[in-house]
Amino acid sequence: MMTIKIVLAGPRGRMGREALQLIHNTPHFQLVGAIDRVNGGKMISEVEGLPNIDAKIYTDIEECMQKEMPDVLVDLTTPEIGRRHTKLALDYGVRPVVGTTGFTSEDLEELQQIAEDKGIGAIIAPNFAIGAVLMMKFSQMAAKYFQDVEIIELHHDQKLDAPSGTGIKTAEMIAAVRESKKQGHPEEVEHIKGARGADYDGIRLHSVRLPGLIAHQEVLFGGDGQALTIRHDSYNRASFMSGVRLAVETVMKIDLLVYGLENIME
Ligand code: NAP
Repeated sequence: MMTIKIVLAGPRGRMGREALQLIHNTPHFQLVGAIDRVNGGKMISEVEGLPNIDAKIYTDIEECMQKEMPDVLVDLTTPEIGRRHTKLALDYGVRPVVGTTGFTSEDLEELQQIAEDKGIGAIIAPNFAIGAVLMMKFSQMAAKYFQDVEIIELHHDQKLDAPSGTGIKTAEMIAAVRESKKQGHPEEVEHIKGARGADYDGIRLHSVRLPGLIAHQEVLFGGDGQALTIRHDSYNRASFMSGVRLAVETVMKIDLLVYGLENIME
């Protein structure tokens, strides 16, 4: 298998550290450089807590692209930095794989256009957990047969947004195939506001926030005399790495920007 030369942006972050391990442990992946706003000029192996990899750290992405000429940029940073990195990578003919979340639809449209004009592959995926993507796909399949569905998403208590992006995406995917329906008794009354959760096209969405949790979701379907539950759990950030690996391998074979891991899973 051809070796894929990778530059990683955000190597000291929680996702970045996992990605370093993934690259290190994948025989046909080679880390040729990293982008970090500190530690410029050092090797990854010289930074405390990072694995023993001989790849140089750059503070300037353009210098890194010129000197290392990677095939792929993996970005796990912040929306502002990730947007800049993705554009610059495309300018240098380097294929971006972006896990950074928070890109706007305008950002995506602009990046899609640049990738198309240049004929370069790019993948942006707000959820790299393959199991979470399958949970959404299976839920969409089930919704053709079960009209009544409620979504319970559960996350750590430091999460700022509710419902989660995955919860909303699941509701959107279900709504795309399910005949619109308001669930529950038509005259139901909430004695405490919010008891029945958020309402997306009649689908109820409930958000649980507790310390100790990472990212979990249950999709519950009910029918006459039967119930179906589809559940996914991310216990740590390693859960996202099989998706990063798939994206790095796939981005080498495409010549346009793909948004969402579900669009590269057969
Ligand atoms: P994190 O631990 O906060 O790491 C962020 C990294 O970005 C750090 O290395 C940080 O370096 C770097 N960074 C921040 N500002 C920078 C700047 N101005 N210039 C250069 N580097 C900068 O966050 P995380 O949990 O790893 O998450 C990283 C991203 O992945 C987030 O957008 C998160 O939402 C997303 N995420 C995606 C998935 C997925 O499946 N796609 C899953 C989990 C998380 P400093 O230490 O110098 O600030």
